[in-house]
Amino acid sequence: MDLQLKDKVLLVTGGAKGIGAAICRAACEEGSRVAIVDRDEQAGRELEKELGRERARFFAADLCLEDHCRSAAEKTLDCFGRLDGLVNNAGVNDRIGLEQGTPRQFVESLERNLLHYYNMAHFALPALRKSAGSIVNIASKVALTGQGNTSGYAAAKGGILALTREWAVELLPAGIRVNAVVPAEVMTPLYRQWLANFPDPSAKLDEIVSRIPLGKRMTKPEEIGATAIFLLSPRSAHTTGQFLFVDGGYVHLDRALT
Ligand code: NAP
Repeated sequence: MDLQLKDKVLLVTGGAKGIGAAICRAACEEGSRVAIVDRDEQAGRELEKELGRERARFFAADLCLEDHCRSAAEKTLDCFGRLDGLVNNAGVNDRIGLEQGTPRQFVESLERNLLHYYNMAHFALPALRKSAGSIVNIASKVALTGQGNTSGYAAAKGGILALTREWAVELLPAGIRVNAVVPAEVMTPLYRQWLANFPDPSAKLDEIVSRIPLGKRMTKPEEIGATAIFLLSPRSAHTTGQFLFVDGGYVHLDRALT
């Protein structure tokens, strides 16, 4: 199926590595151009080179800073002249718990995981109105299942799902669709880092994988990428306000399956 994304312009936050990089690769395979917005300069430049500068441009930004969000949107427009899709993806499960965290750390976690989703949508909106574009927000299963000891991240991801519905409603008159993809267990640099905190990372991984109903395996970043790209494309023209769980049945299927 041709996703009809040729020469469309997509901005992907956290696009240098992991899920974001997989979304950028999928977009370029469909002939889109991508703005890779990330703070990891080395990974961003490498991906830009891999995808080719005529298709992909890296813009360094610390998304916790409002000005950097604004300038990421501006640089994308200066470079490509239009914007057809925004993927809010950057985030980190930073384990700011109820007891182990502090009120200040809770707010900082929201800055890392939630506030830039609003900022990027706010600054991208004028261009998205012109193109009747689309927004995809990357959430997490933690918004629905909880995890324990990660209040900031859970609140942010819950907020992202609420904003997905809220923006889908607000942007109906503009024809801008807004959807969320909800991953559970995806092998990425961030996930590897998290696993490394356990005394026996390989045993921990085996335990997690044994609870994933479909195929007893991790979700591949490309599988999140494919869903995100479909949601950004005109092929999903009548889909808005939806949460798509790309998780091998992790959140919804009967626990007896594991
Ligand atoms: P990742 O491997 O760490 O890749 C994310 C990229 O975003 C990294 O390059 C990171 O840079 C960058 N980034 C993070 N915060 C940033 C900021 N404030 N400003 C600029 N760049 C920033 O992460 P991932 O696993 O692909 O996760 C992507 C999204 O999926 C996140 O929202 C995460 O919550 C969600 N998710 C992931 C999983 C999973 O199993 N992996 C499950 C559920 C949800 P640094 O490396 O410098 O931090």
